[in-house]
Amino acid sequence: MNSRRVSKPIQIGKVTVGGDAPIVVQSMTNTDTRDASSTIRQIKELEEADCELVRVAVPDMAAVQAIKEIKQGISIPLIADIHFDYRLALEALKSGADALRLNPGNIGAAERVKTVVRAAKERNTPIRIGVNAGSLPKKSDPKLSTARNMVEAALEQVRLLESLDFDLIKVSLKAFDVPTTIAAYRDIAGKIPYPLHIGITEAGPPRTGVIRSAVGISTLLYLGIGDTIRVSLTAHPREEVFAGYEILKSLNLRQHGPVLVSCPSCGRSDVDIVGLAEAVEKELLKIKKPIKVAVMGCEVNGPGEAKDADVGIACGKGRAILFKKGKKIGVVEEKDFLTALMVEVERL
Ligand code: SF4
Repeated sequence: MNSRRVSKPIQIGKVTVGGDAPIVVQSMTNTDTRDASSTIRQIKELEEADCELVRVAVPDMAAVQAIKEIKQGISIPLIADIHFDYRLALEALKSGADALRLNPGNIGAAERVKTVVRAAKERNTPIRIGVNAGSLPKKSDPKLSTARNMVEAALEQVRLLESLDFDLIKVSLKAFDVPTTIAAYRDIAGKIPYPLHIGITEAGPPRTGVIRSAVGISTLLYLGIGDTIRVSLTAHPREEVFAGYEILKSLNLRQHGPVLVSCPSCGRSDVDIVGLAEAVEKELLKIKKPIKVAVMGCEVNGPGEAKDADVGIACGKGRAILFKKGKKIGVVEEKDFLTALMVEVERL
């Protein structure tokens, strides 16, 4: 795995993005931002899932006005997502947004962007230049690849912000196509010193979207690219946070709650390993400790994996051996598999 690209850290409220700060997990609400109480409720659900930054859509002035109330009801920093109308960005800053996301493809003339940048500078508020393959600026060069055009669109905005002596910048270059996204981030990574927000846009519903996102995001992270991630899913945003942490845990980049090792089961297993693993997975949602739990179907790999975990169970015919911290601690009957395992998890 490549060492992490060195980026210039920025501060979004209480959260540092970039530098050697942990890779930040973020999400975006899908409530109507104008409905402050529903939005607060959803952000609270995200906070419970340990989401670290939240973005809200700001489609009009009513949404801007809700930001103040939303901010009072939540604990994590809020990023205002602005398209088309730069005045919404100016008002979002006044309402206390901790950062802005601007899309260079639709925010309009440089003069408008400059006005926003000056206001952000006065408040020390960072700006994400968020390029999307689906909304590139009209002047994009058809002779260039999509990835190249995405990079050019971002660089033009970066230069504009730098010309105003503004460096609280974060950049994202998202496409649905994974190779395009990877090419764009690899291209820009060596060209700018700013933190990169990575993700695959419009990745789909969880079943396919998690895989598409994991392929793109983890490839970039493995290359050392990425300071904050969003897994973009057609689902409750809590699923995005869960998937984000699983990606980071898979690469040993963050610890977050338990890791479940379970075998796929096969003809050697005499017990319902699928049912047991699903039940354990559900129970582990209540546990915050970064522990490793193993659920294994037989004696082939069972004892090895179970021993390697903090708590593990290696099943046999009607009975299973229970392991804790590498030591066999007992034999349990099939009806007690779940309870016995969870008792030991709780005791850790
Ligand atoms: S641990 Fe045993 S039951 Fe599970 S997949 Fe391996 S051989 Fe099959």
